[in-house]
Amino acid sequence: MTWIIANWKMQGSVSALRAFAEGLVPLVSTLSRVQVVVCVPFPYLLLARDMFQGTGVFWGAQDVSPLSNGPHTGDVSAAMLQDVGATHVIVGHSERRRDHGERGAWVHDKALAAKAHGIVPILCVGEAEGQTQRVITRQVHEALGEDGALAGSLMAYEPLWAIGTGKTADGATIATMHRHIAHIAPHHPVLYGGSVTADNVGTIVNLPHVSGVLVGGASVRMETFAPLLLAAHKARESA
Ligand code: PEP
Repeated sequence: MTWIIANWKMQGSVSALRAFAEGLVPLVSTLSRVQVVVCVPFPYLLLARDMFQGTGVFWGAQDVSPLSNGPHTGDVSAAMLQDVGATHVIVGHSERRRDHGERGAWVHDKALAAKAHGIVPILCVGEAEGQTQRVITRQVHEALGEDGALAGSLMAYEPLWAIGTGKTADGATIATMHRHIAHIAPHHPVLYGGSVTADNVGTIVNLPHVSGVLVGGASVRMETFAPLLLAAHKARESA
């Protein structure tokens, strides 16, 4: 099964999610090779539950607090995500690292909190332009910790220079980085993220050590997401 994670970032509305779900649900029921997870902003999680429960589409969030319920104004706990049926949560996305200074043990603790509530963390790592594989090694070790408690959670390799830029990493770069991550984190399916579209997804999902994709820009409207899903499904079918 190939994972396709939609990351809506800070985009969408009630009406947009309704229209999206009305297109997505019938389509997904015809696509046996892909598992779709739609990660929406917090206010739309309950609507996502209403639209996706029992349909085969999973829904999730884009962040979670490492702390338990309590006096933490503005934060959302893993227990709350569990309460609205979220199955997945993106953790340590580079936009949160950039905007909120998230890193290291904080990212690890968020993933642990999610896992403790039965929610699969999607741990994001990625290097900036000019940085090397050493950055990825450090981020993977920091995110996963030493105790194996996060075994089975998803990882996403997202080079910063490829996110939202239209500059998708080439196949050789993706294959090299994914082989490296698979070597240091063997118990984690690794997804690729960075300007994935309907035009390039077929090649990417068939690269070695690639278990799926994390999609930002092309995931918010069915006009772009439907062809991407169809292309991924077709590529996996013919692999
Ligand atoms: C992302 O949101 O993580 C992402 C990869 O975005 P985009 O697909 O727009 O590059």
